[in-house]
Amino acid sequence: MNKNSPPPPAPLKTERVSLRRRPDRGQYSLEAVTAILDQTFLCHLGFVAAGQPFVIPTSFGLEGGKIYVHGSSASRMLRELSQGIPMCFTAMILDGLVLARSAFNHSMNYRSVVVLGKAFPVEGAEKLKALEIMSEHMVPGRWAETRLPNSTEMMATSVLSIDIAEASTKIRSGPPLDDDEDMDHQCWAGVLPVQAFSGLPIPDPRSKGSPPAPSYLGSVRGLTTPTDIEPK
Ligand SMILES: Cc1cc2nc3c(=O)[nH]c(=O)nc-3n(C[C@H](O)[C@H](O)[C@H](O)COP(=O)(O)OP(=O)(O)OC[C@H]3O[C@@H](n4cnc5c(N)ncnc54)[C@H](O)[C@@H]3O)c2cc1C
Repeated sequence: MNKNSPPPPAPLKTERVSLRRRPDRGQYSLEAVTAILDQTFLCHLGFVAAGQPFVIPTSFGLEGGKIYVHGSSASRMLRELSQGIPMCFTAMILDGLVLARSAFNHSMNYRSVVVLGKAFPVEGAEKLKALEIMSEHMVPGRWAETRLPNSTEMMATSVLSIDIAEASTKIRSGPPLDDDEDMDHQCWAGVLPVQAFSGLPIPDPRSKGSPPAPSYLGSVRGLTTPTDIEPK
């Protein structure tokens, strides 16, 4: 390769996932996507049904370059997506509100992911494994304690997988970017950090006995938890 030739395209980058605005904030590697998706379990899935675009919030799991989503077999989203129609997955973590001196330069600090592609139904033994991956992605340690789904519950549940093959990430961090001529404008400017917290666990009033809250509640993905997780 000539020393002046551009680097080879990153594997996940295509024309349609290329950022136009602030392309310097984008990355297109599986590592970059995974680093963000490892810190959240919430996403939105976009698809078009009967000519109408829908964007539906849901949760996901992640393993080996695949995203897993699940839901009721009767769900329109699951039924439509399992037909192999084009879809868009997006997830976002808000890190702060960026308060600039000018209204125009207000912004947010965030880490976000967009994946384009199709979703494929997951069946057989892989389906139960995918449900475990989703459960463990949200609350690591939970799956081993729960009653596993029976055949009726498995029938009532659809699981889809999405390959992370065409994707972008975008990250904004740091202080406001005010223009030089606004720097004498007197108002507070800076970043208000934002974090997601969980509260203290509230035991189910129908619990038999008083089992202690499990320690894994302190490692729910993307949530900062109180150190004291003893049940009230
Ligand atoms: C919390 C939050 C708040 C935001 N607020 C604003 C706002 O108020 N106004 C505004 O204009 N923008 C805002 N953005 C940025 C916005 O998400 C888009 O990045 C921006 O509109 C991109 O425009 P574009 O024309 O460059 O890309 P588009 O042409 O719209 O997109 C091209 C491709 O770039 C990729 N892409 C675009 N945006 C993102 C992203 N955020 N993350 C990962 N991949 C992306 C996708 O693969 C997409 O297919 C916000 C983002 C976040 C996460």
